[in-house]
Parts: sequence; C-alpha cells; structure tokens
Amino acid sequence: PMKEIVCKLLVIGAGPGGYICAIRAGQLGVDTVIVEAVKAGGTCLNIGCIPSKALIHAAEEFEKINHMANAKSPLGISVEAPKLDLAKTVAWKDGIVGRLNSGVLGLLRKAKVKIVHGRARFRDGKTVEVETETGTQVIRAETVVIATGSEPVELPFLPFGGPVISSTEALSLKTVPQKLVVVGGGYIGLELGTAFAKLGAQVTVVEATQQILPQYDAELVRPVAKRLGELGIRVLTGAKAKGLSDEGVALLIETAEGEEQRLPADKILVTVGRKPRTEGWGLDELDLDRAGKFLRIDDRCRTSMRGVHAIGDITGEPMLAHRAMAQGEMVAEIVAGKKRTWDKRCIPAVCFTDPEIVTAGLSPDEARAQGYEIRVGLFPFNANGRAMTMLSEDGFVRIVARADSNLVLGVQAVGTGVSELSSAFALAIEMGARLEDIAATIHAHPTRSEGFQEAALKALGHALHI
Ligand code: FAD
Repeated sequence: PMKEIVCKLLVIGAGPGGYICAIRAGQLGVDTVIVEAVKAGGTCLNIGCIPSKALIHAAEEFEKINHMANAKSPLGISVEAPKLDLAKTVAWKDGIVGRLNSGVLGLLRKAKVKIVHGRARFRDGKTVEVETETGTQVIRAETVVIATGSEPVELPFLPFGGPVISSTEALSLKTVPQKLVVVGGGYIGLELGTAFAKLGAQVTVVEATQQILPQYDAELVRPVAKRLGELGIRVLTGAKAKGLSDEGVALLIETAEGEEQRLPADKILVTVGRKPRTEGWGLDELDLDRAGKFLRIDDRCRTSMRGVHAIGDITGEPMLAHRAMAQGEMVAEIVAGKKRTWDKRCIPAVCFTDPEIVTAGLSPDEARAQGYEIRVGLFPFNANGRAMTMLSEDGFVRIVARADSNLVLGVQAVGTGVSELSSAFALAIEMGARLEDIAATIHAHPTRSEGFQEAALKALGHALHI
C-alpha cells in the first residue's frame, strides 16, 4: 500500500476555486495537497469560460467577414465569403486550453503544492482516499476545502448522448450542425447558440419562461433579443421541451399556445442549468448542512463541520469563476492564520452574448425591492461617438444610486465589448463611490466607457451628450 500523506491543507478539486486556494496557501507556507480527478483548471478552463470565449471570438470574426461579403459594408471594405474549418478552430481552442493548463500546474508547483491526480473519496471529514494510476492514496489533513464544482443538469426525458449534447460536447464539435436546437435560454445556451448561428447553423432556442435570460430585466435583454432576430435565431419563449421525436432526429415541444411541435435538429444542446457535484464520492455521508442542493457556508466559507470549508459552484449562486477564485483566496488566508471574511458588495457578472450584458450590484428592481429610494441614470450608446465609429450603437449604461446620498448601488450595461467595463463598475461599488465621484472622474475620449460617466451625470440631472 502507498504511504499515507499527512498535510495541513487538502483542497479537493483544481478548478478556479481550488487551484487559487492551493496556490495562495502554498505562497503563505501552508503545507498543501490538491487532488484533481480530470484536469487542472476545472470547468472554467477546460470546458467553460475559456473554450466558450474562444469559440465566441472565432464566430464573431467569421460573422463579421461574412457580413462584409454578403452586405455592402459601410466601411468601404469588400471581401470574399469566408470559409470555416471548425476542426481547426477547435484545435486552436484546445491549444489555448493546453497552455493555460500547463500554466496552472506550473503555478501550483511554484507554490510548492503537492498535486495528486485521481478522484477523491471521503473516508471521514479529514481523510480521503484517491484512486491514482499507481494505487490508492490516503490523504489526511487538518483542514479540508471542498471545491468540486458543478456539472450540467440532465433532463430525464432528454438524456445526454447521441444528438443530445451538453455545453461540454458543444465546445468540441468538429463540424457546424445544420440545425441546432438549444433547450434553455440562459447565458450558456445563448452564448453558444449565438456562436453557432454566426458559424452558419440554423438555431432555435426553446425557453420555458416568458423571456430569454430570465434573470435580467427586459430593458437589458432587448438589444440581445433584437440581435438574435437579426442573426436569424428563432426564439420560442413559454415553450417546453417534451422529449425526442420517434421519427428522425427532432425535439418535441409544447409551444406557449399549448400546441405540440416537432423541431428537426442535428444536435440538441441542453443548457438548463448546473448542479453541484455532491454525489458519489462520500460527501453525502458527511451529512453537511445544505442550502437547497448546495453546501451551506458562512461568511468564511466554513461548512457545518469544523475544519471543512467549501468554495465555488458547490456553494451556490452566482456560479462564476471569479467568485470561486475570490473565495479560494480568502480561505487560504484564513487557513494561514489571517483574519478574513467574505464581505463582497458586488460580484460582477458578464453574459457574453451579442451584445454583451454586464451587471454589478443592484438593478433598479432589486434596489426598490430592498426598500431603497433610487435615482437611475441611463446613457445610450447611440449618443456615444466611439460606439458609432465601431458600428455598435445598440445598448446603454445604467446606474442605480440611492436618492438620498447618491451612493452607487448598481451598474448595468448592454453593448458590444462592455465586459471590459465590468471592473470599473465593481470598483465603484466596492469603494462606495457616489454619482459625483464617477461624474468627476475624467474619462478618456473617445471611448465607450464615457457612457459610464454620462450615466452618472444623467442620474444627477445634467448629462452633457443627451
Ligand atoms: P469547477 O471549475 O467545476 O472545478 C471543480 C474541479 O473539481 C473539476 O476539475 C473536477 O474534475 C474536480 N473534481 C470534482 N470531484 C472531484 C473529486 N471527487 N476528486 C477530485 N477532483 C474532483 N464563469 C465565469 O465567471 N465566466 C464565464 O464566462 C463562464 N462561462 C462558462 C461557460 C460554460 C460553457 C460553463 C459550463 C461555465 C461557465 N462559467 C463561467 C462558470 C464557471 O466555469 C464556474 O463557475 C467555475 O468553473 C466554478 O469553479 P469551481 O472551482 O467551483 O469548480
């Protein structure tokens, strides 16, 4: 039998939550072991954030050139229609993933973290066994961090396999499906659906609620819905997927009007949410407190068992990589003896659709629901010079502030490239900025970020460019 490893900190799962936690702990001199069943970087690096953004970028480039070839470009550029070799695109994406993968492993080694490859299984709250290539490795630790992330939700009447795929398979298709049906109009389904439509697929989105991207207000979603229409994507809201049709490959749905319809498809991409990875590895037996399906944690990411922390997707919404990383860093510092708590005023979120949506802090509806009297300033990109020069006038920046003190409670934006404004929005909220602070900050001209300053001015009652 292999010699038991005894360590101070054991991190289970090397996604963005786990690997950041292990790197920071290692930097602080904590004797740390990390166990990973598949590949360092987790969902985000291997089958999530990074590969999806690579595919989205390739699709944007293809669509731009295609548009120039088919329609008269106002820029005075004419080109031949582009050709696509999706297998090459996917190989390029895999190359980026591979580079980042080695990078994460290198950073872990540099921080003197011991990496164990294999699936961990709890024996008790402080001991796991890992089936490695060379045998069963037992690891005992003073403190354990659970960072095993999440996986796609499977619909019982549309199990994954054959034409029914999850985001994971969608990111590695070698050819563009002629007909793609996306079940679930949340951010993952729309990001991928838009990319495939740009690459030439006929895309239909089936969404059960009355609006795509149901977590956002209608004002934010409108520019995205308009663009989906321009790209020829059919959106069926209030429609329920029922199962596969018997004849040929097709999805049976019940429309909003209660009629049964058959949607022919080469691939059916099911993106109806993600669930925490809590089953099948001894976690159930530990009987930790839950918040719904997720592990319940306190403001230091402690679970209900002493010495066992949990971070990332397994702890619930928002299931985002940067939240997992921030939690991982905090827990590492706590384990190293520093005083830290989780006191984030806002975790920005980006939806990489076309155009992109950014939210940070409270929306107007959320602020009102929390009892605030608010001022809202909205600045449309069609009044922004840079946006005009970039043919991207749809969308706006919207600021929500307290009516009494002008303290900024939230910022939302929809528009091309607004993802890069997300950190300015988050910074304003974290630092307790007031509308006057943003209005007084000189924003470089001509940039789309001027929309942020103008939205603050608008909320103060004296926008200069509208
Ligand atoms: P994960 O990244 O899921 O990592 C968990 C790791 O634990 C995995 O590597 C897994 O193999 C390992 N593991 C599980 N069980 C065991 C075990 N028993 N033993 C050993 N190892 C184990 N978020 C963003 O912020 N921005 C985006 O643009 C974005 N895009 C996304 C696009 C897609 C298509 C998807 C699917 C997700 C996207 N996300 C995005 C979400 C993001 O990927 C997750 O929030 C993030 O990966 C969560 O990190 P984590 O560390 O909690 O878990």
